[in-house]
Amino acid sequence: MIYADYNATAPVRPEAKAAMLAALEVGANPSSVHGPGRAARKLLETARAQVALAIGARAQDVIFTSGGTEASALALNGVVAQLEGKCTLLVSAIEHEAVIKNAGYAGVPVETAYVTADGVLDLDWLRERLARWDHDQDGTPLLALMMANNETGVLQPVADAATLVREAGGLTHCDAVQGLGKVMVNVNLLGVDYLALSAHKVGGPQGVGALWVRSGAPLKPVLFGGGQERSLRSGTENLSGIAGFGAATEAAIRDMSKLQALSSLRDAMEAKLVQEAGVTVFGKGVDRLPQTSNFAIAGFRAETQVMAMDLAGVAVSSGSACSSGKVKRSLVLSAMGVSDDLSESAIRVSFGWDSKAEDFHAVAEAWLAAAKRALGTAA
Ligand code: PLP
Repeated sequence: MIYADYNATAPVRPEAKAAMLAALEVGANPSSVHGPGRAARKLLETARAQVALAIGARAQDVIFTSGGTEASALALNGVVAQLEGKCTLLVSAIEHEAVIKNAGYAGVPVETAYVTADGVLDLDWLRERLARWDHDQDGTPLLALMMANNETGVLQPVADAATLVREAGGLTHCDAVQGLGKVMVNVNLLGVDYLALSAHKVGGPQGVGALWVRSGAPLKPVLFGGGQERSLRSGTENLSGIAGFGAATEAAIRDMSKLQALSSLRDAMEAKLVQEAGVTVFGKGVDRLPQTSNFAIAGFRAETQVMAMDLAGVAVSSGSACSSGKVKRSLVLSAMGVSDDLSESAIRVSFGWDSKAEDFHAVAEAWLAAAKRALGTAA
């Protein structure tokens, strides 16, 4: 099987497996004061340092969570709670559902921040909206802008947007789940206040993530209990998962240049699909993640493509992972103004740390063969 669905989950790296097994051997609670507890604490803090180093942060500002979804839920609800609801959320139209839905349930007004046809946040719209911000009525602006889109891979102008928001007296949350290990993620250069990460996108286990919080930024906990994670996220930490997250993150940063080099193989694959079948590649004209490709040809439904590729031994996805398998139009492509016909035919191919050059070729061949059978148009 050729696996080309890294944006859904990357296979677990050997370094992460080893770290997880070592952590399971410890078998103690990191909050316990005895020797085994201190050994567990040491592993926890090692992982915290590894994650912090990867994003240019201080270890004490990293809070472990159960994943990217919980990290964004904590950021959005935690700010709203601390500001006692005196804020308005500006949520980019292409955010992951983890952000869009948590924003929707946060109990404060939510406005959509528009994107251009390339899928990039419209900075002019943001500038204009902030210029007419009424602090008495709207409260503090809180922007949610992802680093890289999970479907198209399109990179967002996070640093520029965060500057505008900061100048307007607001706060910025960045979902960097798809950015880590693929492009540089540095909280200082980004100038954001909160940043969400997830282990399973970098070759760590599923069910572990982190929220980085700028020192002094407003945040109230949303889970209460034993006071772990500086009382910002109670509950005994998932030690083996966190150890795997730390090791995977370290390996992902070490291997980042190899991952970035995949862009030439991705581009060659896309060029072949364009030339031989006339596919439309989304976000092609702007900066994208190096290993993601989202393309479509009208009339060849995404789920048919995914099934045909699966039968050919190639694992890809239609749209985002959460909507795979369901016949659901992509909100991301709709926000970019893509027609329904084309959007229903879009598939996402994403590669990663264990991808080989021949995988790109195999994906192109499998897709062209499936398209030829279905449409009779491809070579
Ligand atoms: N944000 C983005 C951009 C994602 O791609 C995902 C995963 O699909 C998430 C958040 C959710 O992360 P997790 O699965 O760790 O909750």
